[in-house]
Amino acid sequence: MNNAQVHGCQYEGWQCFHCGEVFTTVGSAEDHFGGAQGALTGCQIKAGEERGLLMELRKAENEVRNWNETAAQYARNADFYRGLLDQCAAHLGPDVFVSDDGLVQDEPLRLKIPELVQQLANQEKP
Ligand SMILES: [Zn+2]
Repeated sequence: MNNAQVHGCQYEGWQCFHCGEVFTTVGSAEDHFGGAQGALTGCQIKAGEERGLLMELRKAENEVRNWNETAAQYARNADFYRGLLDQCAAHLGPDVFVSDDGLVQDEPLRLKIPELVQQLANQEKP
């Protein structure tokens, strides 16, 4: 027997007396009713009593979308530059694949690449 059956209610969950919508999970109810006592319900906000809040929500959603796109671009850039370092590592030989304790790694130890490039540069100087 669920909570609704115990109390003789038609629905299991929380029903908004403003719009009549029923929320059957804590998360969906919290989204609609807000997390604080006296908070405006989602339907009241949508109805225009606090239209500014809805506009702020939409702006925040856009900012999140923009930041996610920026983060994705940074990740693509990192992959690109990691690929360049891997190409350099292939030319530098086994030194970039052997860690300090002598273990051979599957991937190049990218931190070693600048030092090895510096050594190459020094070798080429007369
Ligand atoms: Zn409502």
